[in-house]
Amino acid sequence: MRAIGRPRQIEREEGRAIAKRIVCTEQEPVFRPPQHAHIVAVGIGNDPGSASERLTLAEVLQQIASGVIFYTIGATSGKTAYVEPFRCTWCGRVFIRSRADSVKDNNLDSLRYCAWKAA
Ligand SMILES: [Zn+2]
Repeated sequence: MRAIGRPRQIEREEGRAIAKRIVCTEQEPVFRPPQHAHIVAVGIGNDPGSASERLTLAEVLQQIASGVIFYTIGATSGKTAYVEPFRCTWCGRVFIRSRADSVKDNNLDSLRYCAWKAA
C-alpha cells in the first residue's frame, strides 16, 4: 500500500513512485459543448502560477498506468486531491478527474486554464 497522503515523500522514496502536481488544464468540448467538456492536456509543476511541463491526456493516462501519481493542491485549502482515470458514460472515452474526496478548490475542474503562450 502506498502512503497516499504525502506525494512529496513518495517522490523521495527511492524513485519507486513519481508524483506530479497538476497546476492547470486544457479542456475541449467533445461532442456537446459547453456542458460536456473534457480535459485534453494538463500543466505540471510546483509553482501553481507557472507550469513547467505539458502533458497530453494520452500521456497522463499512460503515466498513470505505469505508476505515476497525479495530484492537485487547493489554492486556499492547501489540501491534496488525487487524480484518477474514468470512462465518460456520455462519450465512452477515458479522461481524468479528481477523486470523489476532493474539495472545491483542489478539484481538477477548479484549476486555471493553461496559458502556454504567456510569459
Ligand atoms: Zn464524455
